[in-house]
Amino acid sequence: MDRMPALFVGHGSPMNTLDSNGYTQAWRAFGRKLPRPRAILVVSAHWYFGATAITAMARPRTIHDFYGFPQELFDFEYPAPGDPDLAREIVELVKPEWVGLDRDQWGLDHGTWSVLAHLYPGADIPVLQLSINALKPLEYHVELGARLAALQDRGVMVLASGNVVHNLRAVRWNEPDAAFDWAERFDDAAAAQLARDPGGILRLLDHPDYAAAVPTPDHFVPLLYLAGMATARGAALDPLVRGYSMGSLSMTCFGLDAEALTCTEADGAATLPTNVPAEQTNI
Ligand code: ZN
Repeated sequence: MDRMPALFVGHGSPMNTLDSNGYTQAWRAFGRKLPRPRAILVVSAHWYFGATAITAMARPRTIHDFYGFPQELFDFEYPAPGDPDLAREIVELVKPEWVGLDRDQWGLDHGTWSVLAHLYPGADIPVLQLSINALKPLEYHVELGARLAALQDRGVMVLASGNVVHNLRAVRWNEPDAAFDWAERFDDAAAAQLARDPGGILRLLDHPDYAAAVPTPDHFVPLLYLAGMATARGAALDPLVRGYSMGSLSMTCFGLDAEALTCTEADGAATLPTNVPAEQTNI
């Protein structure tokens, strides 16, 4: 089986599930080029709690983990199956790190389905989620990511879903394409670091704009998983999409073994991989 690509996608607003904008068009274009994996393992910013767990139910529920959005978004379902056998396989793969099997608690949150709605709209490929253990130091996530790199050769696509820059307190709701200077500086620094040395990603903690760009770690940590995978493979990470939304979010995406996803004008996302305007501000 061919080696599967791995992605980090900046997911932004949950409304991207339903919207058509430069970012979602890029994700659709990725989906047309992606191989069909055996399963998808997602590290979502929105399953951030005090343990490392993996969903292990046959039919994960669609979780609507937000408030104040249109009913249409609460009605959205992503009925992909789970894969309990693969969950147990991953538990073995990452030993001696411990991962618990979640048989009935979580499911698929919007960090997962807002992106998969575009990458794999058929919802017919098994999807598992790996939680982000909030009690662990950041190094742990880079190292756990490195252990997941072997999944690429087992037919599993890893999708890390977060945002490189994510500061909700600073969001400018009515400026869909805006970017604060500090957001651009940090996003640029992350792209440069990942192109040069993904294993050194935690050097970004010393960046003068880290505190503003990453006020809480939840949306940044998924990127650590892809950086760990790239480190294990001895590969660099290049951005597939660059862009900003509402001042304090970056929509940047990175790919590992994803050269085939590089967008062209034929994808209908002509300005990629430079800044892509988002047409909607709904968040
Ligand atoms: Zn989010």
